[in-house]
Amino acid sequence: IVRAVAVGKRFGAFQALQGITVDIPVGEVLCVIGPSGSGKSTFLRCINQLETVTEGALWVGGELVGHRRVGNRLHALSDSEIARQRLKTGMVFQHFNLFPHMTVLENLIEGPLRVQRRARAQVIAEAQALLARVGLAHKSAAFAIELSGGQQQRVAIARALAMRPQLMLFDEPTSALDPELVGEVLSVMRDLASSGMTMLVVTHELGFAREVASRVMFMDHGQIVEIGAPDQVLLEPRHPRTREFIAAVR
Ligand code: ATP
Ligand code: MG
Repeated sequence: IVRAVAVGKRFGAFQALQGITVDIPVGEVLCVIGPSGSGKSTFLRCINQLETVTEGALWVGGELVGHRRVGNRLHALSDSEIARQRLKTGMVFQHFNLFPHMTVLENLIEGPLRVQRRARAQVIAEAQALLARVGLAHKSAAFAIELSGGQQQRVAIARALAMRPQLMLFDEPTSALDPELVGEVLSVMRDLASSGMTMLVVTHELGFAREVASRVMFMDHGQIVEIGAPDQVLLEPRHPRTREFIAAVR
């Protein structure tokens, strides 16, 4: 569902991503690990077009991101076409960014109603089912602000799912949580993974990666150093940099 070929991203003279080539098939759970500044967030942000790629080519859901090929030439997409492409991905950040002045249910239905213009009754029914799925059916009338961090993050996941994305991107979704709240969020993500959702998860939770990931990808200095089965990358890393990183995180 994602194909990156020699993807690079420069910020001025600084090369944040370089030569990223990876295929992510439908249903894969790819966990991305690596030191601070290695380009993990930038890669996710390129996939959902919060950043534009400066080199190489990126496809999401079978479409070239940001461009259309006409004959031998590439044309930049219009803002509305980019907005349409972005709907293929749901993103969950470290900070939940819920709408604080709205109830939990309103947070979920806002996008499907206003952006996707879907029928209200159906959107509400689907939102309620999603809240049940993340264990928060009883909180649908609460304001976001009244919830714990773990509950807010579960609402953020449900809100992203309410847009019916093909692909879910998670950028350190548990890093801002108190330790006792991490488990409930990981558990929702584990359920989502077993439902067959394609997921890209930047995380420092190596236990989660080992248990849930189809593959683990280690990045450093904007490059993919190593990618493979979780047990291979996490327990028998081939590259010294991966070994060092894992030893330091444990
Ligand atoms: P962390 O674990 O700290 O979240 P990361 O692996 O997610 O790190 P990125 O946020 O992708 O790292 O950043 C990669 C590099 O790109 C960093 O050196 C960062 O300073 C730089 N960078 C990111 N965004 C920008 C920007 N908008 N302008 C300039 N440099 C940027
Ligand atoms: Mg980051």
